[in-house]
Amino acid sequence: MSGKKLSVAIVGAGIGGLTAAAALGQAGIDVQVYEQAPRIFAVGAGIQLMPNSMKVLRGIGVEEILRRETFASRSHLNRVGDTGEITNELFMPEERYGAPDLCMHRATLHRVLTSVASPESIHLGHKLVGLEPGSKGVDLSFANGVTAHADAVVGADGVHSVVREFILGPEQRPIFGGRVAYRAIIPASRLEGYDLGLSRTKWWGEDRHIVIYYTTAARDEVSVATSVPESAEWMTPESWSTDGDVADLCRAFEGFHAEVKKVVAACLDCNKWALRDREPYSHWCDGPITLLGDACHPMIPYMAQGASQAIEDAAILARCLAETEGEDIPAAFLKYEAHRKPRTSKVQAISRANTWLRTQGADTDWLYGYDAWNVPLEAGAGI
Ligand code: FAD
Repeated sequence: MSGKKLSVAIVGAGIGGLTAAAALGQAGIDVQVYEQAPRIFAVGAGIQLMPNSMKVLRGIGVEEILRRETFASRSHLNRVGDTGEITNELFMPEERYGAPDLCMHRATLHRVLTSVASPESIHLGHKLVGLEPGSKGVDLSFANGVTAHADAVVGADGVHSVVREFILGPEQRPIFGGRVAYRAIIPASRLEGYDLGLSRTKWWGEDRHIVIYYTTAARDEVSVATSVPESAEWMTPESWSTDGDVADLCRAFEGFHAEVKKVVAACLDCNKWALRDREPYSHWCDGPITLLGDACHPMIPYMAQGASQAIEDAAILARCLAETEGEDIPAAFLKYEAHRKPRTSKVQAISRANTWLRTQGADTDWLYGYDAWNVPLEAGAGI
């Protein structure tokens, strides 16, 4: 592609899409991002960025602002749901994993990532409806009637990806394993002086758990995320805007420790969604089109790695594209998939098992020590 700048269209301005836009931009690629939402607005709840993704975010220049605004967790603390006994505490020192472990509201992360993109490169209100690959790139069409063209397309369009459907066909109904997640954000002032401490805590019950942590450096906001059994009849689309009932949430944890009950009783409202599971997809690429983030490796959130894996993808994709200098995009995409898929498949499998860090002894270096800017690009490195 001598002389001409490579152009890439990213579909979806979520966490992975915006990180990819920054990483590809740094690699000298002309990036345009197409997002279906008509505006950027604060939605969602708590999200965790482990050292493996913070190294990527350092590389695109947003580490310092996130450090200033968000909660740096000292450890993953694991406690028995009713007695409060500590079963494992994994400390997260920066010297060990090479970056901090930060907890925040997704809206904070999204705002910070949006701020590093050039406003002209983000096209809101553009819901992708069609993709047409040709000999000279890919034509994109949007529900608003607009069309666009790029040398390559990255589908960062989340768990219900349209780009994935283009590559793999319609998804078979994902498995509902009879579990739902309640999520809530609570002003810490509602805890009436109860201090959560400096850790992110996962409280483990027989058939349910709850994760509680601060989301801000000021420790004035708290995130609650759960997994709770639910009858198979209860189904909802996986959606970040489905309301739950706080009374149901409190009932689900009435057998838990007093500290947990204090936190859930302070919830003003909550979201609820069905946790659906998927096996790794057979492939992520089709010529000049590839996938990134939840579009290619949606995962049960029990390892809190959904955002971090999407962010890692972005750095590896940028490196693979930079390496090929635009000469062989399909080969770059295949190299990206070959490197990333073994790692994301491993994270999908461990997440599903829901035993991660419950007790001592897990090897954590392969996960948190991974450095997407420097790991060898060979297939499967990073597992
Ligand atoms: P996402 O961050 O989900 O981004 C996908 C983007 O693609 C979205 O902006 C979506 O609007 C856009 N999109 C989808 N279809 C199209 C289309 N046809 N055309 C154009 N654009 C399209 N995870 C948490 O752990 N905690 C949270 O609080 C949380 N809140 C969320 C709120 C929202 C609104 C969304 C969309 C996701 C949320 N997630 C949350 C999920 C989390 O962001 C992802 O699991 C993870 O960060 C992986 O990111 P991703 O970029 O692959 O997908």
